[in-house]
Amino acid sequence: MLKIPDLHTHSTASDGTLTPTALLERAAAAGVETLALTDHDTVAGIAEARTAAARVGVRLIAGVEVSVTWGGRTVHIVGLGVDTDCRALLAGLASLEEYRLWRAEEIGRRLAQAGYDGALEGARGHAAGTLIGRTHFARFLVERGAAADIRDVFKRFLVSGKPGHVPGEWTTLEEAVGWIRAAGGLAVIAHPARYDFTRTKMRRLLGEFRDCGGRGLEVVSGSHSRDDYFVFARHATEQGLYASAGSDYHGPEKPWIELGRLPALPDGCTPIWTAHGFGGAARLAAA
Ligand code: AMP
Ligand code: MN
Ligand code: MN
Ligand code: MN
Repeated sequence: MLKIPDLHTHSTASDGTLTPTALLERAAAAGVETLALTDHDTVAGIAEARTAAARVGVRLIAGVEVSVTWGGRTVHIVGLGVDTDCRALLAGLASLEEYRLWRAEEIGRRLAQAGYDGALEGARGHAAGTLIGRTHFARFLVERGAAADIRDVFKRFLVSGKPGHVPGEWTTLEEAVGWIRAAGGLAVIAHPARYDFTRTKMRRLLGEFRDCGGRGLEVVSGSHSRDDYFVFARHATEQGLYASAGSDYHGPEKPWIELGRLPALPDGCTPIWTAHGFGGAARLAAA
């Protein structure tokens, strides 16, 4: 029986807590045969992940999770099987990284006003690479005793209406899908249930996404409930989109679900791993 691939994971190249090497080792130990590394707005972890994947015998899909602003909200688009040397993709990701840096400084200023000095430096201390995200601030704030755990910090400091929140101004849906396609990858809408869109707005997102060349929808996700699997399986089928599955693993800490524990896609879905050219054969880890 074909094992369900895990097509959405993070490493220390963005806001995961395992290095690409440790992630691939854990995936192999959990019996994962195919894994996509999809760090936020960067492919900086892929080279190390390739080396580790070849060593531990896991098929690696080179991926990325691109931050987009659509309909006044942040929407995440996963790219699967991307050429990590593609100039259009790299230039696009560089512009997002630049915005992230400005946003990190701004979050630092806002947290200082709220009485938490040194947050930018603190967040940097939790980041292994150059990319800084809200999770790094969250880890710093937990360490400072500002909140009990990561979820609590987000709720109290880092979401809309809270002192450390900066409204995202990421790239457009069309650009993100364009970069992924230019790099030969398949674009997939990540964790759709997280956006809390009405049915009408979700249909509009899916329609626009498909019109600009998007191919898949995450049906099974670590942040979806069982009911969500069925709701989004229907959306995918209705819109002619492939169904994808990913844990959105960020590390062994709670609340992330473990690697290799994904349930099967609901009946009637067309799995994205059956798509022609899935993973970009030339870009798979050399076995
Ligand atoms: P950023 O792209 O820097 O705005 O950060 C987004 C990341 O923050 C997500 O990928 C999650 O890893 C994390 N995140 C967002 N909301 C929450 C939450 N409520 N609890 C825990 N982590 C969260
Ligand atoms: Mn994250
Ligand atoms: Mn995401
Ligand atoms: Mn993710």
